Amino acid sequence: MADNHSKEVRSMNMSHIRSTNSKPEEKVRKYLFARGLRYRKNDRRLPGCPDLVFPKYKTVVFVNGCFWHHHDCGRFVWPTSNEEYWHKKITRNVERDEQNIKQLKSQGWNVITIWECQLKRAVAEDNLKKLYNDIVNNK
Ligand SMILES: [Zn+2]
Repeated sequence: MADNHSKEVRSMNMSHIRSTNSKPEEKVRKYLFARGLRYRKNDRRLPGCPDLVFPKYKTVVFVNGCFWHHHDCGRFVWPTSNEEYWHKKITRNVERDEQNIKQLKSQGWNVITIWECQLKRAVAEDNLKKLYNDIVNNK
């Protein structure tokens, strides 16, 4: 497949892939595990393959990268090259997210999304505490 991405876009692309696949998700897992919660990871049987599934609390958690899922925060910026490609791709992601959440809710799941920007060092502790409470209070 021809790669017509500029070097700039490609390196941005790579850095986003790295950050969505590892750090934020791991932070959430570690925190919740330490607080005694047990979960399934990346459950493909559920719509959208949620990052964390808590059957006991009938709750699923998505850990979303602000770029890939178009979070309405200062972190999201439209790329300035290959605009059409990115617009299509990101829009499709957002539509898919909405669809998945709708399906999960109709199956009775409590759906929580936590964003990459909510896991920055300065705010992570508070947001993780809130996440924990939102999970265990869903009974
Ligand atoms: Zn964000």
